[in-house]
Amino acid sequence: MAKRDYYEILGVKKDAGDDELKKAYRRLAMKYHPDRNPDDKAQEQFKEAKEAYEVLKDPSKRSAYDRFGHAGVSNSAGGPGGPGGFHGDVGDIFGDIFGDIFGGAGRGRAARQRGSDLRFSLDLDLEEAVNGISREIRVPTLGSCKTCNGSGARDGQKQTCSTCGGVGQVRMQQGIFSVQQTCPACKGAGEQISNPCTDCHGQGRVRETRTLSVKIPAGVDSGDRIRLAGEGEAGAHGAPQGDLYVEVRVKPHHLFERDGDDLYCEVPVPFTLAAMGGELEIPTLDGQVKLKVPHETQTGRMFRLKGKGVKSVRSHRTGDLMCRVVLETPVKLTREQKDILKKFDETFTKDDNRQNPRSQSWLDGVREFFDRMTS
Ligand SMILES: [Zn+2]
Ligand SMILES: [Zn+2]
Repeated sequence: MAKRDYYEILGVKKDAGDDELKKAYRRLAMKYHPDRNPDDKAQEQFKEAKEAYEVLKDPSKRSAYDRFGHAGVSNSAGGPGGPGGFHGDVGDIFGDIFGDIFGGAGRGRAARQRGSDLRFSLDLDLEEAVNGISREIRVPTLGSCKTCNGSGARDGQKQTCSTCGGVGQVRMQQGIFSVQQTCPACKGAGEQISNPCTDCHGQGRVRETRTLSVKIPAGVDSGDRIRLAGEGEAGAHGAPQGDLYVEVRVKPHHLFERDGDDLYCEVPVPFTLAAMGGELEIPTLDGQVKLKVPHETQTGRMFRLKGKGVKSVRSHRTGDLMCRVVLETPVKLTREQKDILKKFDETFTKDDNRQNPRSQSWLDGVREFFDRMTS
């Protein structure tokens, strides 16, 4: 069978750049990957694409190929791979290029299964989230077995799996299809243990609770995650550990509500102070500050205290504190106070709301509403 042109196989022009080659190869490799395509034709196409890519990505091989064609690279390209060795090869190149896309499973000995990533929810007070904190956490996990050093073998001895010959994959006939599957005897590890460790029952991992110290940077918010590399579960049979993700959850605060880097709080104001103006003590995360309340301040008015919010963990910009004043109606009035208020009330001219602008505009609105209904 005549060999096809490498550029034609990858579907790129002769002057294609490295990125273009890689993209074209990735596309084909995804399409024809043996894990997804049980038929032999796809395997052939996969091998063809792989061979083409391996030659063209190498500048010296590529120039040899450009000048002499297939003859220029027939030795270095490795040919279409002998029987048996094929799957080991796939594992290698996929390990480089695909890493995370396919995960570790089902690719033979080259890809032993890495331990699972773990997620740990950490509840923090607002102050802790704002200022940062170091916290000890206790994480239930699977750790590497100390007795056998994670190997799972009591004597440290492992044998090549007799079912799959160490490849980690077996071919099964299903009707007319031949299907590649993870070896059931060794679960893809390619090795077997004849003398399993009694502490971990040959798994190489044991249940344990790990105590870790986590440094939480200042400014984190709910949903932020801190990755502790290698602190996840141990991999089976000595494979690498997964990662631990500590996810922050900030507890509700009794004074402040947080929105990104801004804080919100509600401040009750006596109506006399709101009417005449004055100063209020406002709590902030770094102590009390004074807020000047102008006279004739209405309820609901928002005051912005610049830079009294949260310092962002990402931008390092500091947010603001937004204070909403709420006028408070006094309670438990004495007879004397009531008398004063009555006298005060009598000072207002009847049916004239000039001193109560909100009431005035509200009454105007009500009048307009009824006028429209009756007209
Ligand atoms: Zn063990
Ligand atoms: Zn096996």
